[in-house]
Amino acid sequence: MAKKGFFTTNLHSDRKSNPEHGVLHKAIHPSVAYGYEDARELAEVFQGKRAGYNYGRQLNPTVTALQDRITAMEDGIATVAFATGMAAISSTLLSLLRAGDHIVSSAFLFGNTNSFYGTLQLLGIDVTFVDATDADNVAAAIKENTKLVFVETIANPVTQIADLERIGELCKEQGLVYFVDNTMTSPHLFTPRTVGASLIINSLTKYIGGHGNALGGSVTETGLYDWSDFDNILETYRKGDPQLWGITQIKKKGLRDMGASLGPEAAHHLAVGSETLPLRMDRACGNAKLLTEFCAQHPNVNNTFYPGLTSHPQHQRAKTLFGNFGAIFSIDLKQGLDCFDVLNRMETVISSSNLGDTRTLAIPVAHTIYFEMGPERRASMGIADSMIRFSVGIEDSEDLLADFERALES
Ligand SMILES: *Cc1c(COP(=O)(O)O)cnc(C)c1O
Repeated sequence: MAKKGFFTTNLHSDRKSNPEHGVLHKAIHPSVAYGYEDARELAEVFQGKRAGYNYGRQLNPTVTALQDRITAMEDGIATVAFATGMAAISSTLLSLLRAGDHIVSSAFLFGNTNSFYGTLQLLGIDVTFVDATDADNVAAAIKENTKLVFVETIANPVTQIADLERIGELCKEQGLVYFVDNTMTSPHLFTPRTVGASLIINSLTKYIGGHGNALGGSVTETGLYDWSDFDNILETYRKGDPQLWGITQIKKKGLRDMGASLGPEAAHHLAVGSETLPLRMDRACGNAKLLTEFCAQHPNVNNTFYPGLTSHPQHQRAKTLFGNFGAIFSIDLKQGLDCFDVLNRMETVISSSNLGDTRTLAIPVAHTIYFEMGPERRASMGIADSMIRFSVGIEDSEDLLADFERALES
């Protein structure tokens, strides 16, 4: 059968895989346990000799259906879902790395990923932070014990775009795992496999779920990395196709040992949300373009950070790789203006920490999500005290523009 498009594949995936009574949505299976008529079958499932479900912490049919959708969206070969995006990141890295290993990471990071790298350092896993907008900085940081390179597609909150293609080539040359956080672009704007990513994480909480009503995370294997070169794969997982050794260890160690499993109700919400991802994302990108054009020429705005502006240092890169520019942008205000006052004058835009919702959300980043990291690290990430990050939703653009006009007048 010919490969179908993004929308079609996603909308019809549940119906085409084991349709119970012809249902179009995968059922929500609340069962934690699975019974077997023949006890030998249960043993075979445990030993991986037969496909099947053993226990809800490792597998659930509703969650499996969502994993399959994400695999299709990311053009990967397998996906494991977790309770949150952070669970996907931490379970993956804890499953794959050991004390004495080294990671090269973009310095421009989601705050909690940055915080988790602090935890890894306490466990003896070394992390070097670099400006990943230029692959030369990544190359310069690689050491003999480097196992993995981690980048985000569009970074929070200043919207730097990693040198995704060249870092992919570098990882390939050096035999490193290339781990890409695709949350900000979502598989609608970008599939990291095209730049050689080995593993892709998505916070499903954000654009894929899209409605701020369920938490979730996933890690997708693209099949591009040869895990027989990765010496941390345990002997028991060095079986069968080496392309799958990494994701098998993530599934077994990550879900079984750490146990941050996605629940079936959340998986259902996320799957339904994912059906409109392209519609929501395109509309939110359109709104973001209008708002950033407005902010960029506003006398009370010092800087507008958005890849869609031709003045953005990686504008061309975003255009080539993503075809659009995302729905996250940040501004910092003219000296003397207070970010709290500006936010409080908004009517439609909600002061809130989430992103990727259908509603437009805004947050004063230095005082909230980047507060704990302190002024020095904030300055190194280009985060001013007056910075506000917006996650643009799908409201009527006139209403959003009216909010910005009112709020920025002083
Ligand atoms: C939100 C986010 C995460 C973490 O996802 P949660 O589902 O909130 O745990 C990871 N990476 C990026 C880029 C994010 O925006």
